[in-house]
Amino acid sequence: MHTNLLPADAARWRTRRNPKRVTVIGAGVAGLVAAYELERLGHSVEVLESRLWVGGRVRTHGFAGRARGPLAELGAMRIPASHHRTMQWIDRLGLSDRVRQFRTLFSDDGNFLETPAGHRRVRDASPVLVEEFRRRLPADRSYRDESVLCAAWLTASVNAVAPGAFQQNLHADLNLELLDLLDGIDVRPFLVDGAAERVDLNRFLANNAGFAARSRLQHFFDDITTETSSELSRLEGGMDQIARRLADRLRGPVHHGRKVVGLHVRDDGVVVETRRGLATAASHCDYVLCTVPFSVLRGIRLTGFDDAKLAAVHDMQYWPATKIAVHCREAFWERDGISGGGSYTGGLVGQTYYPPVESDPLLGAALLASYRIGPEPDALVKVPREKRTRVVLDELSVIHPQLTEPGMVLDVVTQAWGEDAASLGGASVRWSKDIVTAEEERALAAQPQGTLFFAGEHCSSYPAWIEGAIESGLAAAQEIHACAPVAQPVRSHGYRRIPGGAA
Ligand SMILES: Cc1cc2nc3c(=O)[nH]c(=O)nc-3n(C[C@H](O)[C@H](O)[C@H](O)COP(=O)(O)OP(=O)(O)OC[C@H]3O[C@@H](n4cnc5c(N)ncnc54)[C@H](O)[C@@H]3O)c2cc1C
Repeated sequence: MHTNLLPADAARWRTRRNPKRVTVIGAGVAGLVAAYELERLGHSVEVLESRLWVGGRVRTHGFAGRARGPLAELGAMRIPASHHRTMQWIDRLGLSDRVRQFRTLFSDDGNFLETPAGHRRVRDASPVLVEEFRRRLPADRSYRDESVLCAAWLTASVNAVAPGAFQQNLHADLNLELLDLLDGIDVRPFLVDGAAERVDLNRFLANNAGFAARSRLQHFFDDITTETSSELSRLEGGMDQIARRLADRLRGPVHHGRKVVGLHVRDDGVVVETRRGLATAASHCDYVLCTVPFSVLRGIRLTGFDDAKLAAVHDMQYWPATKIAVHCREAFWERDGISGGGSYTGGLVGQTYYPPVESDPLLGAALLASYRIGPEPDALVKVPREKRTRVVLDELSVIHPQLTEPGMVLDVVTQAWGEDAASLGGASVRWSKDIVTAEEERALAAQPQGTLFFAGEHCSSYPAWIEGAIESGLAAAQEIHACAPVAQPVRSHGYRRIPGGAA
């Protein structure tokens, strides 16, 4: 009867007769998408997750009770329009009606940015930025006003987006050949409202790819293009709905509080050691998909890996990232002329975002007071926990004195991803690597060891994005689906206690 089946049906038919038992480690987006896809292909899946919740670095915090209070995104918060897989999964999970525009850095004229002359509103910043930029130019060189305006805003935007160590390079670059190049481009079509006061950098960079490509700082220009885009989306009700919906749709179990502490690749499968409380157990698994960030994996006992893979695990670079969200009595920024978007506050705070109030206004509003990501150890994290909130509020009250009003700050939550034992970093990074090297690194990160497979943003061509987690999760699911069955499959997900406790 099945001889007339279409190829896809035939594959599912074969799978139904010979399903694989797959253990997925990590209930972040990569692990959950892979688990969902593997079940769809007819396999049996269990997920092991060390945390008590799903989503990993997609984490939405609810102030004053998740159901009704204001929400703060402590991990991923926006989706670029070009991230088609992410948007497709949002659609597939029935979340399309919750997609809203994400208002980004400097998208509101009332947003602030740090300038050498102090903080200025975006609408008032150009004269200061231009004057500062001109001051650093050699006296014998002259450039068109629009070129200097464009360069001055590029510098300000890179300051807001790029980590400190990279900013010097930009200044050197812009002061030299890039400014010459800029002077040869007609910047006038990109002036906001035709007035020589501000340049639409997003449109300018999107339409002048050659300009960005000539710079050592192309990565930052790419980031500026993304971070200043008006085509960014968010999810009303929280980004973690992606992970929660995926988990709800799984047939197999998600075991929380199961920390994987050892992975041992054998000829006939993988031995997975887990710790739950003080007890350690081991299980022989046929197929394992590991989505744990390599920053964490290098602290796990690994045997049976080849040298190249071990080197990839140990060498992958991660940047710390920290977010601090404040539950405010009210959205005070609205009466101060800010309807959304983000400021560059500078100092230890970095960026500040003003999410819209979508919950009952009587329950207050969430302010994303501080967001920082970069290669330097996070200076804010070095500030003792009990003083951290004070430091942030003191810095931020320079532009938002309302934060010092009695009763304005109701609660504060900090998520330092670099300190979090299940992440040990905000995101993997391949900045400053050329395309070939970056692809080699990606391929090695994703390369299986026996029947131990790998996924996660670090194994993808979109590191540091949900898009990458999805891309890699889907690729790994297909790889597991297609691979030859292990010689003598072990038909149990059961875990055997290891006598003597911890590994
Ligand atoms: C501050 C911040 C802002 C971001 N902003 C954006 C954004 O705006 N847009 C965007 O698209 N992306 C953004 N990202 C990136 C995005 O969140 C990640 O790329 C994506 O969520 C990674 O998914 P993952 O499944 O690869 O990894 P993770 O989400 O880290 O999942 C790995 C899972 O493994 C679990 N785990 C770890 N160790 C163990 C262990 N030993 N045993 C068992 N389980 C374990 C973890 O608890 C976690 O659940 C941001 C990230 C951060 C940190």
